[in-house]
Amino acid sequence: MPEDAVDFFISRFKERLAGDSPELPVYYRPRSYRNASVRFRGCKIEDFARRRRILEQSGLNVFLFPAAEIPGCDLLSDSGTSTMTMEQWASLFLGDEAYGSNEGYFALKAQITETFGPSFAQTDPRRENLFIFHQGRAAENAFFGVLSKLLHGAKYPPVRGGARLSGELECGLGKMIETKRRALGGGDRPCYIIPSNSHFDTTEANIASSGMLPLNLPCREHVENDVTFPFRGNLDLAALENLLENEGERVPLVYITVTNNTGGGQPVSMANIREAGKIARKFGKPLLLDACRFAENAWFIGRREAACKGQSTVDIIHGMFSEVDGFHISLKKDGLVNMGGALVLKQDGFLAGSFPELEGRLTDHQILTEGHPTYGGLTGRDLGSIVQGLKTIVCKDYLDHRIGQVERFGKRLSSYGIPIITPVGGHAVYIDMDRFFSDIKTSDNDFKGIAFTALLLIAGHRFCELGLYAFGRQVEGEECPPVPRVNYVRGAVPRLAYEERDLFAAAEAVKVLYDNRGDIPGVEVTHGKDLFLRHFKSRFRFNFES
Ligand SMILES: *Cc1c(COP(=O)(O)O)cnc(C)c1O
Repeated sequence: MPEDAVDFFISRFKERLAGDSPELPVYYRPRSYRNASVRFRGCKIEDFARRRRILEQSGLNVFLFPAAEIPGCDLLSDSGTSTMTMEQWASLFLGDEAYGSNEGYFALKAQITETFGPSFAQTDPRRENLFIFHQGRAAENAFFGVLSKLLHGAKYPPVRGGARLSGELECGLGKMIETKRRALGGGDRPCYIIPSNSHFDTTEANIASSGMLPLNLPCREHVENDVTFPFRGNLDLAALENLLENEGERVPLVYITVTNNTGGGQPVSMANIREAGKIARKFGKPLLLDACRFAENAWFIGRREAACKGQSTVDIIHGMFSEVDGFHISLKKDGLVNMGGALVLKQDGFLAGSFPELEGRLTDHQILTEGHPTYGGLTGRDLGSIVQGLKTIVCKDYLDHRIGQVERFGKRLSSYGIPIITPVGGHAVYIDMDRFFSDIKTSDNDFKGIAFTALLLIAGHRFCELGLYAFGRQVEGEECPPVPRVNYVRGAVPRLAYEERDLFAAAEAVKVLYDNRGDIPGVEVTHGKDLFLRHFKSRFRFNFES
């Protein structure tokens, strides 16, 4: 027996945990939180026939399926689906529902400075720099709408033909711009361009509906599917510089989305944000972040970027945000709340300097559509829960568990041979439907991704098709797959909601489908093929002939 048996065992326990890696056998590293409140679903995993009936009544559309009938994992979205902490619930009781300047407003201002850094403090009390909205897209709508009016009120930049664009730009940029321009139906529109690593779909739609061109410049490593590259969310810096050199006067500002949702929840490096900032400044352009998953992005930087090793998540976040002139955020993600959004400007930043009217116009827009700027479409108690959410979201314990959990879910799927996007991103796993069905004869028009999500829901778990149906469209009666082609099914993991075994149960259901993929039928679209944003509204039925 060792001299001190207790010390002996402590060192054995430590060995189990050594390495501090998310690859650890999960049961030796408990969750960093415990359940303070739970929800029982009345439904049973065995009720397959019942789910089949309800799903068929819902036209096989997973969005239309009642959540109360899902016994397993509901991975439709990580947006607004977070489980709140006790501190957040407690803050709801302390909410101040004053019409003007409620307590939550001041607490949120202070928290924004604490979370995103001192450069986001309101230095001039006569000018507003925090614009609260009910969710992210409302902030986008306000920002791009106001920006577009300011720009188009100014002198139009000269309109150019396609030939000059494609003649002078390298990297196929000219062609991309032209294709987008035509898709938006504008031969002679002035088309200001808003470049980004990848715009989220609502961001893209809000830019386009404000009469501007959203342009995605994802890094080469992402386009070429380099699975060893740690920052696949990066912006293509050469393409950005090229764009600003050739079409600078048409680019009012530059955007980066962290993490890159459209690209699989992949992180953007600190170096990439810094370099993008430098390039933007060189051409006199503001840089903004779509900051929905800022904490998850910072966690990846701390783990993967040598220059930032050992820094705290908060220091990394301050570093990221010191480079930018403003950001918008859906607080339904890394705000850890069920509803909320904001636009925050750096008061002495480049954006506020370039567009001095912006703040006033945004306030007007808020008053017209959301409410007084000191609550902006949210209740006073909502603001308190956002403050608490922003405090929790940067905790190491929280982030280690959060991102580790998503990664272990991905690893479990991979261990069954199921093709997913790797490395796994921060909030979701993406199953690659083209590789899933690569050895099966199938036609794009069978929409097997839709059938796959329908069968998974009958198994008891809700995933979402983000592929040929969600992003494809009908042109003159013909089905056009998205360009560049994307064909994924996404499982987005809600924050603090599920245990590992729940996710592993979902992985097992995916395995059953994968092992029998030759027997997965196609679907026939019975309604909505031609509709805008069709995947939310369409109806389908299984087609056992396909
Ligand atoms: C969710 C999301 C948005 C839109 O926010 P909502 O709160 O859903 O309106 C914008 N950008 C990104 C990257 C998102 O993930």
